[in-house]
Amino acid sequence: MSHRQFVFLAGLFLCSCGDGPGTASDGTGQNVVLITVDTLRADHLGCYGYFRPTSPRIDALASESVLFENCTVPMATTLPSHVSILTGTWPIEHGVLANVAHGGMAYKPTNALTSLSQALTDCDYATAAFVSAKPLRLNSGIDKGFSHFDDPNAPQRRGAVTADRAIKWLAQHLREKNEQPFFLWVHLFDPHDPFDPPSEYSSAFKAGAGLEAYLQERGFSDASARPGGRMVKTRESHDGYDGEILYTDEQVGHLLDELDRQGIRERTIVSLITDHGEGLGQHAEPGHGLIWDEQVRSAWLLRAPGLSARRVTARVSTVDFLPTLLELLQLPELGAFREQLSGVDVLAASFRGRPQFSQSSARLVEHGQPLVHSVSQGPWKLHWQDQEHRTLYNLETDPFELKDVAASHPERVEELQEILLEHFVRLQARSAKLGAAEEIVLDPSTLKALQDLGYTGAEQDD
Ligand SMILES: [Zn+2]
Repeated sequence: MSHRQFVFLAGLFLCSCGDGPGTASDGTGQNVVLITVDTLRADHLGCYGYFRPTSPRIDALASESVLFENCTVPMATTLPSHVSILTGTWPIEHGVLANVAHGGMAYKPTNALTSLSQALTDCDYATAAFVSAKPLRLNSGIDKGFSHFDDPNAPQRRGAVTADRAIKWLAQHLREKNEQPFFLWVHLFDPHDPFDPPSEYSSAFKAGAGLEAYLQERGFSDASARPGGRMVKTRESHDGYDGEILYTDEQVGHLLDELDRQGIRERTIVSLITDHGEGLGQHAEPGHGLIWDEQVRSAWLLRAPGLSARRVTARVSTVDFLPTLLELLQLPELGAFREQLSGVDVLAASFRGRPQFSQSSARLVEHGQPLVHSVSQGPWKLHWQDQEHRTLYNLETDPFELKDVAASHPERVEELQEILLEHFVRLQARSAKLGAAEEIVLDPSTLKALQDLGYTGAEQDD
């Protein structure tokens, strides 16, 4: 076992050191409300430094929460990202590498890999999900384990519709089964393309000097092409997109207000997570699915009774949401469930951050584009396609990934590549044990690179 692997395992055994508040004051399990916002760039929220007032309600939540400043998603694609959030595993482990409509497999639980919804249902929680768009509808498998699952009949629906339905369910649940803790997941989709907010939000933001400075600093192009060729104008996109965020922020506010109105704030953990960002023309990309930071950075807020508000700078992943939540919940029945988790409790006193990974599998599955992985550690981020196609960025001096410095830092490239390949080897072995992914989850060029560098099948069993 390498030193790095030992540190990884040691981290797992230190999970029980968290400062979680445990059960609610009356001894019952705490409620969990998870709000996932689709396609919302972390850097378009006030609490993450945005210059436009897009997010007063989310900012207020942030002021009462632990805010993770450096959180990434393993994939900037809706279904794989959500499966990682709800199972605490990486895409190579759960095997969902694209949305179902674009050739990905549906999430399939096994005896060794299941989701938070099933785990909490087994702990006698009421579990309910309200999703807003096609990638998370019933055929995605994400409904597995929820006792109540509510999806739209159309490709998508407005956040207000989803939030209202969730609020009605919550009110009914509290009326009828007030003693039974619940897990409520609400997915809001409005910031996703097309950017056409309701009329009262459509003129909330107009391009001006502030936007020009923002675009200039990040090297945006004036327009960019969606897969299929549709051209998208960068400034118009920003105005419409930010209007959608402001609208979504209001829906988040409605949900939070309802928790207060029902008097359950003191026994309810709230987490808001974005499943990925959006290019909007940065790196000449209008959409998502790639590994640039603007696409894989996630906003993650966590508010829990007894947990002090603070900002965490260490590198974390949305894969860490589940183990962190479980440490707060302190449900002894979930001991076996924890064995599947690849994430770690990032509120543990011993946690100092760890390398983070993302991959662009959906672009390969959907469009035949090269599969690119990233690994970030300290200030460095490596984009890795294979041994011939590697670029390196120093995010401390170049936070917007504008200058490839691989040629002048070959030792960093090798070091990060080794971390990435060890990650592959570890996950391949775990994937086989979890039994959820199809047999081959790494693409041929990655497998070849592993072989070329001496990683053999025998090592995978370590
Ligand atoms: Zn999404």
